[in-house]
Amino acid sequence: MFEHIHAAPADPILGLNDAYRNEPNPNKINLGVGVYKDEQGVTPILQAVKQAEERLLNQEETKSYLSIEGSPAYREAVQKLLFGEDHQIISKKLAQTAHTPGGTGALRVAAEFIKKHLPEATIWVSNPTWANHQSVFQSVGLEVGSYAYYDANTKALDFEALLASLSQIPEGDVVLFHACCHNPTGIDPTPEQWYQLAKLCSKQGFLPLFDCAYQGFGHGIEEDVQGIRTFLDYVPEMLVANSFSKNFGLYNERVGALTIVCETSEQAEATFTQVQRCIRTNYSNPPSHGAAIVAEILNDKQLRSLWEMELKSMRTRIHEMRSLFVNTLRVKGVTQDFSFISQQQGMFSFSGLTPDQVAQLRNNYGIYIVGSGRISVAGITHENMNPLCDAIAAILK
Ligand code: PMP
Repeated sequence: MFEHIHAAPADPILGLNDAYRNEPNPNKINLGVGVYKDEQGVTPILQAVKQAEERLLNQEETKSYLSIEGSPAYREAVQKLLFGEDHQIISKKLAQTAHTPGGTGALRVAAEFIKKHLPEATIWVSNPTWANHQSVFQSVGLEVGSYAYYDANTKALDFEALLASLSQIPEGDVVLFHACCHNPTGIDPTPEQWYQLAKLCSKQGFLPLFDCAYQGFGHGIEEDVQGIRTFLDYVPEMLVANSFSKNFGLYNERVGALTIVCETSEQAEATFTQVQRCIRTNYSNPPSHGAAIVAEILNDKQLRSLWEMELKSMRTRIHEMRSLFVNTLRVKGVTQDFSFISQQQGMFSFSGLTPDQVAQLRNNYGIYIVGSGRISVAGITHENMNPLCDAIAAILK
């Protein structure tokens, strides 16, 4: 029965991790997958998470199933973080949230929901976008289109082209936006540009789906969801897929959520029952531990301020590495202008390195970055800065 089945190609990002593990070069550097590393090159467990886990271990009384949509404490905490405590979306009960296994789980549930209930819709993603977006949506049979976003010449957002692209998208389609820290470019719209995008969305009548995987890694917890909140002033319906993998460092606990916003609370309740159906026939109900940690932290004053401090220190370290990277390349004699890297937000930088240069870094120096030239700045440390910049300087000569 299985003889006709051939091996699938390696995942462009996770496959790189496997190749890195097998790399014999003792000085190898992994800047592929988007995982935060501290100055010691370690992906730490946050103190806030450790303390929350201690409490949970003492308090936990059962391992019985959660409901399809997850625990109420978690679902409320997610909405407050995304929309702000006092937002009318919350007081008027216009949003419903389901706890999902990671941000990917949220996107997959959203994809199934869209396919089932908006079967004619095409989903539009930015060019470029996170490599898994297209695959997740195509796996349920959705048509995926792409809209203009990045200008490779200026290494910046091509806002005119973005507006022109979105103006072609018809009513009833779905448009995916990265809420912040755009993956892979690190380039986000400004507050004024979000406002223009929201107005355009309202005029065109497409449904926005926000992917929010890096809240707090860009400018700050509140600042990073300004795009979502601006849209809420202009459009009555929205989907938000968010992840706590990065901002709580809970990568392997698989914590995320899908939130659906509707025009009335009755509509939100009815629509949400269809989201619940998608979940029931997929993984039935979510895993408890990671979401319990997030809820414990967000709903406790002391743990929350500790988390905010730790998140700020991750954000600050990445910003520092960006500036140091640009300066070190200059010191090493690289004449090509890399200053755009210090303006980008979040874990990634679209370096502008070509596939050939990426291959040279890997083959000659054991430095792993994604073929598109995306560098995970969150993996750069003071220690690997010099060998990294030496190698880049050598291949650019
Ligand atoms: N969306 C984007 C833009 C991402 O970069 C990622 C993680 N790399 C995800 C979603 C998925 O997050 P998770 O690991 O929680 O599934």
